[in-house]
Amino acid sequence: MKKVIVLGSTGSIGTNALAVIEALPDRLQAVALAANNNWKLLCEQALRFKPAVVCIADAAHYQDVQRELKSSQVKVLAGKEGLCELAFQTEADVVVTGITGAAGLAPTLECIRSKKTIALANKESLVVAGPLLTRLAKEHGAAIVPVDSEHSAVHQAIGSTPYKAINKVTLTASGGPFVDRSKEQMAEATVEAALNHPTWKMGPVITVNSATLVNKALEVIEAHWLFGVSTDQIEILVHRQSVVHSMVEFVDNSVVAQLGVPDMKLPIQYALTHPERCVGIAPKLDLAQVGTLTFEPVDQERFPAVTLGYRAAYEEGSMGAVFNAANEVAVGKFLARQIRFGDIIPIVEEVMAKHRVVQDPSLEQIFEADRWARTEA
Ligand code: MG
Repeated sequence: MKKVIVLGSTGSIGTNALAVIEALPDRLQAVALAANNNWKLLCEQALRFKPAVVCIADAAHYQDVQRELKSSQVKVLAGKEGLCELAFQTEADVVVTGITGAAGLAPTLECIRSKKTIALANKESLVVAGPLLTRLAKEHGAAIVPVDSEHSAVHQAIGSTPYKAINKVTLTASGGPFVDRSKEQMAEATVEAALNHPTWKMGPVITVNSATLVNKALEVIEAHWLFGVSTDQIEILVHRQSVVHSMVEFVDNSVVAQLGVPDMKLPIQYALTHPERCVGIAPKLDLAQVGTLTFEPVDQERFPAVTLGYRAAYEEGSMGAVFNAANEVAVGKFLARQIRFGDIIPIVEEVMAKHRVVQDPSLEQIFEADRWARTEA
């Protein structure tokens, strides 16, 4: 039986993780749940899964959660400190880090310090603090198993092969809702159009990031840190069917790909049950019904975010944090209808151009770079 902490339990990763946990009652048990501000759903989940502890990050709802759970055995924490306490103190085998954005970094580091396996769904934590996080994970002997579908695919393709036998990692991209639009059409795209993703159902920020391909840019940085590959060993291919989740070319030119129905429950289950495999709830892939799989190069002229992602991965240090922070601000402004879709990436590019990279940054220097980039953006 594995004890599981779910950080971000009310989001799309979190609810899928709980569905997997519920489907595997002999293998998985939720021992702690944390949510940002959806306190009603958090309470429902707490009553259903009976974890030892929950945390509501938005401390304004602490009383609501207390009241709702007062007749249960569940301990209630609140705020950023509560989140870190829950992450560090709770005895658990594996943690699903499903908190979007830079906010997930501190609790992820606490999980590493307490030697828990990280089922990493918060790609921003690696993007923002790749050098720090991978060094700490090594020091504390905490394994990182990616949940992001592409990186889960790469992890599965690599298996027990040493990383030095990797020639190239190919990340596939659905292309997002604007894959066939011209630069001019994209510049004026509405919030509604950007939120209409063809294959994956996700939160608003990550869905906009899929439309700009910032999501893929973040995944380049993520792959760089997870698998120790340099930027010229990472390739992106547009693959509209989202069936091949990614692939690895080894030094002997053999290419191994992982395929499956586009459903997050599969990579979540893989991360939670790794290194074992078991019958689960992900649907079966019917390749005869899919029929055709297509692959195209990505057009960096129309999707300049990709170029910025490679640059941030190449420059390392604090640049990932700056890329992520500037993008979060710009996407927030777009969702609030204060800027155009076509303004998002130029803002990020300008902030990156002004940034002086700090190599091997401390956590404080990372937060400083993050704050600086937000103000600049
Ligand atoms: Mg992904």
